[in-house]
Amino acid sequence: MFLGILMHKAESAGRELIPVNPASTSRTCPAPECGHISGENRTTQADFVYVRCGYTANADEVGATNVKRAGLVLRKAALAA
Ligand SMILES: [Zn+2]
Repeated sequence: MFLGILMHKAESAGRELIPVNPASTSRTCPAPECGHISGENRTTQADFVYVRCGYTANADEVGATNVKRAGLVLRKAALAA
């Protein structure tokens, strides 16, 4: 329902909507060549310290980065099909 409304809004604004499965997007290290997934990465609600490579960032930025990346991968796959 929400997605349907959002899809319509995006279309009328000339934008593209790509639904992304959010699973693990807040637990995955966005550092290039890493991608390690662990709940232990999240030290507080706001902060991330990646247990494998030591990458640190704001947790919300990490989630947004991973969602965007997943969406672009889906888009590329759809265009190649
Ligand atoms: Zn890492």
